[in-house]
Amino acid sequence: MDLQLEVRARNERNGFRRRLLAWYGNHRRDLPWRASRDPYRVWLSEIMLQQTRVAAVIGYYQEFLRRFPTVTKLAAAREAGVLAAWSGLGYYRRARMMHAAAKVIVREQGGRFPASEKELRALPGVGRYTAAAIASIAFNKPVAVVDGNVERVLQRVAGKRLAGEELWTAANDRLDAKRPGDFNQAMMELGAVVCTPRAPGCLTCPVIEMCATRGELAATAKVVPQKKREIHYALDQRDGEVFLVQRARDASLMPDMWELPEMASRNGASSPSFTLRHSVTVTDYAVGVWREVAAGRARGKWIPLEQLDRIALTGLARKILRRAEML
Ligand code: SF4
Repeated sequence: MDLQLEVRARNERNGFRRRLLAWYGNHRRDLPWRASRDPYRVWLSEIMLQQTRVAAVIGYYQEFLRRFPTVTKLAAAREAGVLAAWSGLGYYRRARMMHAAAKVIVREQGGRFPASEKELRALPGVGRYTAAAIASIAFNKPVAVVDGNVERVLQRVAGKRLAGEELWTAANDRLDAKRPGDFNQAMMELGAVVCTPRAPGCLTCPVIEMCATRGELAATAKVVPQKKREIHYALDQRDGEVFLVQRARDASLMPDMWELPEMASRNGASSPSFTLRHSVTVTDYAVGVWREVAAGRARGKWIPLEQLDRIALTGLARKILRRAEML
């Protein structure tokens, strides 16, 4: 690159950082995990926010910290208690991995969080994104993050599709090495509230002058069609108790979690007590709930209603019990 172009590119990156950070300072949302740079809290929020919306995470984040305020407390907890605190957030593998990582941190590091991206990535459940987020936000290490929001901003600013390693390189090129944690959060925030997937708010965007697209990039992504499935459950209830079954320990999905007993599909004149819809990744479930005696009571258990918030329920079981006003 000739010298003039290099100087122009450097000025452009500096301007981008300055404007983005100034905007973040004035407009960032006041979220509970932004009050602290404690690595345990940063880690917890980053894991919870994977695949889950901010609004849904806030309550769980606060309650989880109330139950397990430190990594040592989390490491010492029983898995059932950790899953119960996670119950309703979905993707329970995240909770299991956090629990396993907490034990490693306590056993091998005396409860002290590793600070480098490399050591963080060696922990169970910590991938490249999470390691970079913790290293930059909690330890001020100059490493950029790439998540869905950052990816969208980078591509629109560049005016082209970027894939794989190109994205990480573009993010690291733009990173403010003096304030990497703020910069990373600012990029994610911009993608979440201004440079949104549909109808980005370009007129209020702090980096509009440096953006090649100023709108949506032409879409090339394929839409994955949703599958439809019907499923039925027995809501078997007696005085102050409900009958639930526990998924197998080695089940590939949601092992050990509690749910209502599933029933064979129904044909005929009768209809369920109530129905609801439930979506899991690419499947839409039409759920029928029948107030009747569960078949095969041998493998389940009567659970007192007041204990329901202390056991790890599947998201769908929680939804049904809420609808039935038992939870
Ligand atoms: Fe996104 Fe528009 Fe800002 Fe470009 S100008 S980064 S498209 S919000």
